[in-house]
Amino acid sequence: LIGETIGDLFDRIASEYATNDALVSMHQGIRWSYRELQQQVERCARALMAIGVEKGDRVGIWSPNNAQWCVTQFATAKIGAVLVNINPAYRLHELEYALNQSECRFLIAADQFKSSDYTAMLNKLVPELAQSAPGKLITPALPHLNGVITLSDTPAAGFMSWQQMLDQADNSSVDALQERQSELQFDDPINIQYTSGTTGFPKGATLSHHNILNNGFFVTESQRFTDQDRLVIPVPLYHCFGMVMGNLGCVSHGATMIYPSEAFEPDSVLKAVAEERATALYGVPTMFIAVLEHPTFADYNLDSLRTGVMAGATCPVEVMKQVIEQLHMKEVQIAYGMTETSPVSTQTGAEDPIDKRVSTVGRTQPHLESKIIDSLGKIVPRGEIGELCTRGYSVMLGYWNNEEATLNAIDSAGWMHTGDLATMDDEGYISIIGRSKDMVIRGGENIYPREIEEFLYTHPAISDAQVTGVPDKKFGEELVAWIILKPEADLTEQELRDYCKDKISHFKVPRYIKFTDAFPMTVTGKIQKFKMREITIDELG
Ligand code: ATP
Ligand code: MG
Repeated sequence: LIGETIGDLFDRIASEYATNDALVSMHQGIRWSYRELQQQVERCARALMAIGVEKGDRVGIWSPNNAQWCVTQFATAKIGAVLVNINPAYRLHELEYALNQSECRFLIAADQFKSSDYTAMLNKLVPELAQSAPGKLITPALPHLNGVITLSDTPAAGFMSWQQMLDQADNSSVDALQERQSELQFDDPINIQYTSGTTGFPKGATLSHHNILNNGFFVTESQRFTDQDRLVIPVPLYHCFGMVMGNLGCVSHGATMIYPSEAFEPDSVLKAVAEERATALYGVPTMFIAVLEHPTFADYNLDSLRTGVMAGATCPVEVMKQVIEQLHMKEVQIAYGMTETSPVSTQTGAEDPIDKRVSTVGRTQPHLESKIIDSLGKIVPRGEIGELCTRGYSVMLGYWNNEEATLNAIDSAGWMHTGDLATMDDEGYISIIGRSKDMVIRGGENIYPREIEEFLYTHPAISDAQVTGVPDKKFGEELVAWIILKPEADLTEQELRDYCKDKISHFKVPRYIKFTDAFPMTVTGKIQKFKMREITIDELG
């Protein structure tokens, strides 16, 4: 394990690989070497100190992917501030919740994103903003907030622009920064990340330098990263996939971070891989599908790719085969984890056979432990289903300002109870069965929706299928399937029922079938089954 703070690691790597490309932000036309990135980071760190950011202060960032995000990440780490990642898709209500829940003192906000005007939104939330001097904000709506830094070049009244913030660096010395950095401990909190909100309201996981720095390192170590690797990061930086597995994964090896666009766009990914001769690519399965199916796919030379990570959800076998063959990612890996464990706890290896990469999420990462337990907390026999628990360096410090939730999640022996159902085979490979919250109990029978989804997926007319349970008077719960058909495909409810007959047990045949164009999703592309349930319950009356 690396026993350094993120600031110290960053400085060490930046001097060792000074001339390597550190960051390419394609949509901004930015290309910085490690030396250049370090200059930016140091300037930003001094500026943040000059505007009054103390050790432990929360600094929110509400922005899509860009170079400023990366600079802020390492600058806040150097001065011991706690970066609060705020989803750029959040709107006022959610932003207010995150800022108040984490008691942010400063906010760095994008200018525009997906046709939303962030300045206008903020002025609506905080009418006092326009009347206050930058850094002197007093507002009842956000009692902890002192100032807002906007990524706009022309800041509205009350806002400080990114450049105006950087200019403050002259009011804080290099010595002061070094002194601050030397006071920090690697187990200090450094980051609050909200969970995706797949199963309910997002919770803020408080993570330390040690948590995320080591996780980033081991995720790319297992992909055999060196300082020659060039990683395309189309996944959001506000999520651990981008900022830990992406940014910290690269920085810990002196590798190159490549941002193709503000938010995922398949064509920008293809262009980034081809033009930058990328060696690695990240994504959730739906992103890989979108890239593979994109009409311009054949126009690009992608043979520089070697590895990458697919995570966040299970990957269909066909998609895995295409990623290996058509995207040349022979060493592509599957990773499993959660925000609360920094995030990755299991990963397949570069040489694992393809069946392990589609049917399992690999083995436990170095320096971590996994166990699978029954409802009484006893370890189940190999191959049997139970709740997966993780222990080790990666387990979060706790949920921010939510001791009750922390005590529910992490037990007194340090095990994080993931809420995921899984099995472990004799060789230690773990398979995720689904979330315990998504398991359906119909007439006393445990049903794992994923099994039915995979079966439905075998129907040639079906593009995607999601199964969940809804309350039922007679059986306790009944199954409902939401189906997305392939373009031009035609399928009736009755035809689908006939297809299921004699292939799966009668009690696994969904009672309700709904044809749809889309599933309710988080911005990370995860399907929110609790919303599917709510919608179906509404529709059934
Ligand atoms: P919330 O906790 O707010 O409901 P969330 O659990 O989706 O949202 P994250 O921390 O982003 O928030 O996601 C972690 C979860 O994602 C895991 O608990 C697991 O259910 C799922 N997951 C992660 N990786 C994989 C994978 N490789 N295969 C299947 N599921 C995965
Ligand atoms: Mg979760």
